[in-house]
Amino acid sequence: MVKMKMNPVREYFSGVYLGLKTAFIGMKVTFSHLFTPAVTIQYPTQKMKLPERARNRLYVNMDDCIGCDQCSMACPVDCITIETIKSTPEDNLGVTSTGQKKRLHVPVFDIDIAKCCYCGLCVPPCPTECIKMTDVYEFAEFDRHNLIYSFATMTPAEIETARVKAKKMEEEAAAKKAAAAKAAAEAKIAAAAKAATAPQVQQSAPVQAPPPNPASPPNDSQQKPE
Ligand code: SF4
Ligand code: SF4
Repeated sequence: MVKMKMNPVREYFSGVYLGLKTAFIGMKVTFSHLFTPAVTIQYPTQKMKLPERARNRLYVNMDDCIGCDQCSMACPVDCITIETIKSTPEDNLGVTSTGQKKRLHVPVFDIDIAKCCYCGLCVPPCPTECIKMTDVYEFAEFDRHNLIYSFATMTPAEIETARVKAKKMEEEAAAKKAAAAKAAAEAKIAAAAKAATAPQVQQSAPVQAPPPNPASPPNDSQQKPE
C-alpha cells in the first residue's frame, strides 16, 4: 500500500499541535500541585518537630558519672572509651544526683560519634542516668576527628595528681600485703621450730612376749638342757 505524502503546511501545524498537547499533559501534573498543601519545609530556617524519643547526639553529664563502664560494655561498636583512676580515702569526689558515692576519677570519657549507630543501648544500663540521647542532630563536620566528643572535665594537672596518689596508695597496699605475708611465714617457721625442740613426753609401753602356743614345736630356747 502506498502511503500518501502529507501536505507540508498541514504537517507543520500538526507537529505544533502535538508539541503543545504533550507539554500540556506534562504540566497538568505540575499545575495540580499548585493547589495542594506543601509537605516540604524551608530547612534550615524551618525545622521539623522530632518525635519525643528520637535518638540523636549523645550527651554525658560528668557530674553524675561514676566511671562504672556499663555504657561502654553495652556499646556494640565500641565507640565509648573510658579510663578511670581510683580515688584515695582522703579524696572526696562527692555523690551523684541519684545518691551514689563517686569513688573513681574519670580522666577519659570519649564517644566517637562517627562510629555511633544511635542504637541507644548505652543509655538504659547507666545506674545514674547520666548518659542520654539529645534532640541535637546538626553536628556535621568536615574532619571526622572532630566527631570524637570528650566529656571528661579533669585538667592534665588533676589527672597527674590523681595518678600519683593512686600509685602511691597501691604501692602502700602492696607493701602492707607483703609485710603481712612475711609475718605469717615467720610465725609459721617459729611454730615449726618450737614443735621440733619440745621434749618427748610420750613413753613407749613395755613389749610383752606372746604366750607360747602349745601346738607349735618348742624352739631352741625352750628345749631342755641335756
Ligand atoms: S547509641 Fe549505640 S552505638 Fe552509639 S554509643 Fe550508644 S551503644 Fe554505642
Ligand atoms: S554507665 Fe553511666 S555512670 Fe557508668 S560510666 Fe557510663 S555514663 Fe558513667
